[in-house]
Amino acid sequence: MTTTIPDLPAPAPHPSDGLAGLEAREISAWFGEHKVLDRVSLNMRAGEVTALIGPSGCGKSTFLRILNRMHELVPGASLAGEVLLAGQDIYAPGRRLTDARHQIGMVFQKPNPFPAMSIYDNVTSGLKLTGTRMRRADRDDLVEECLTKAGLWNEVNDRLRQPGGALSGGQQQRLCIARSLAVRPRVLLMDEPCSALDPTSTRRIEETIAELVREVTIVIVTHNMQQAARVSDRCAFFLAAHRTPGVIVEHGPTKAMFESPRDSRTADYVHGRF
Ligand code: ADP
Ligand code: MG
Repeated sequence: MTTTIPDLPAPAPHPSDGLAGLEAREISAWFGEHKVLDRVSLNMRAGEVTALIGPSGCGKSTFLRILNRMHELVPGASLAGEVLLAGQDIYAPGRRLTDARHQIGMVFQKPNPFPAMSIYDNVTSGLKLTGTRMRRADRDDLVEECLTKAGLWNEVNDRLRQPGGALSGGQQQRLCIARSLAVRPRVLLMDEPCSALDPTSTRRIEETIAELVREVTIVIVTHNMQQAARVSDRCAFFLAAHRTPGVIVEHGPTKAMFESPRDSRTADYVHGRF
């Protein structure tokens, strides 16, 4: 798994180095005939945490999947609109699906490390997909760096060869974050990353998010309003009225969304009156 590759030149800087924002323009989405998002536009600024909030079924996960071209893999799914990463449309003709995936990482609600694969190999697993070849020593450094950023290094550095599946749920989620970071994404999408975790693990992930946002733009879906208030710079409130597709009712700085929302539905939602 970790064969030494001698005397290769140092890897070129990844083209995704540096902060980049993500902008969704007029995104509509369908599953077959069922329209689930209607012309949703949102600017997710570089170096910020944007929280997507709103009741179940209003299209938050679908929107997130559109941001890294996972939606198009769902049979029968379609979409309209543009997603600009650092000003470039990831859906433009000629842009490769894999480029978007490497630059825009995703962490899911249920931690999904490769359970039988070692902690070390979980972290480096994305490098094979990106075709990145590294010297053993550089790869060791990368594993330490990514596990440190994910807040997991101190807990696992003496057992990197143990399977990822042997870790606790919170540790597995942090391993998934480390795995995402190894390909040096510019954006990290997180779909309810703490919903399956205990309060202590949740805190650890929130601390990790606060550190990571210095170098990776973050978009997080959360149903936990305290969490949205703690971790995000801006919020977007999604809503799908009965039998209508999801829209963004209101978005803005988190403090304003919580303390002085313009729309009464936002006030009701963030204060738990929905
Ligand atoms: P949220 O994440 O806000 O709960 P989703 O994006 O998961 O919302 O779902 C939005 C709508 O799209 C819902 O009506 C849901 O039933 C529908 N939907 C989601 N995924 C699929 C799918 N794979 N096939 C068909 N409909 C789907
Ligand atoms: Mg969802």
